[in-house]
Amino acid sequence: MAQTGQSREARSHLNPLRGEIEAALDELGVERRLGTTVTEIGDGYAVLSDGTKVEADAVVWCAGITASELTRQISGDVDDLGRVPVDRQLRALPEVFVAGDTAAAAFDAEHTVMQACQHATPLGKVAGYNAAADLLGVPLRDFTPGPYVTCLDLGGAGAVFTRGWDRRVMASGAAGKEVKQRINQHIHPPVDDAAKILAAADRVHIELPFFPRDE
Ligand SMILES: Cc1cc2nc3c(=O)[nH]c(=O)nc-3n(C[C@H](O)[C@H](O)[C@H](O)COP(=O)(O)OP(=O)(O)OC[C@H]3O[C@@H](n4cnc5c(N)ncnc54)[C@H](O)[C@@H]3O)c2cc1C
Repeated sequence: MAQTGQSREARSHLNPLRGEIEAALDELGVERRLGTTVTEIGDGYAVLSDGTKVEADAVVWCAGITASELTRQISGDVDDLGRVPVDRQLRALPEVFVAGDTAAAAFDAEHTVMQACQHATPLGKVAGYNAAADLLGVPLRDFTPGPYVTCLDLGGAGAVFTRGWDRRVMASGAAGKEVKQRINQHIHPPVDDAAKILAAADRVHIELPFFPRDE
């Protein structure tokens, strides 16, 4: 695994997770080359920026996240992820509401939302509601996200589940994997029942069984 850009130290917000992730990578026999990028990919190999040639049956390129270029048509003041600044009601311009991975919405006084489904889904609900409410001349609602959690699948080494922006590890290994599987089973919205669809749409965030719950 080669990773360029930020060093481990610069990614200090991930520190509580680091031990869990490194143990999982060790268990799976994954070698890390930090501060390294890929300069060439060929038939059966990849070349790293330090000159090393690595034989590979497959190369998986995970190049990070950035918002659609369309955001530049809405704002000249996008954040470092290319997202549009919005107010509490997700309005960017008098006639434009922004949702999901393109919205730099405030989670709280210190954090903006993550480009992840736990925020994209409620952002879409609120932006859609507010766009309709604005047209109808009825009160708009604020974006009120639920508690922030992270659940990282670590393949054969299980998963790690954290709570809060300081990413307190609540479950790891097989216990973390159980949480991940619960989440994956619960995030799918109803698609064939109008009453359930409307009920789900009415909740900005859904209380899910993200165990363990204890702080
Ligand atoms: C590989 C991968 C794994 C992920 N895993 C997780 C995970 O485990 N947990 C998690 O929380 N999040 C995960 N995410 C992030 C999550 O998928 C996103 O945060 C979420 O889908 C964002 O929703 P969205 O509606 O803002 O954008 P999207 O889901 O990207 O939807 C945008 C839609 O707009 C369409 N579109 C784009 N441009 C135009 C255009 N010009 N005209 C018309 N349509 C257009 C696109 O085709 C797309 O259908 C993952 C993302 C990826 C890529």
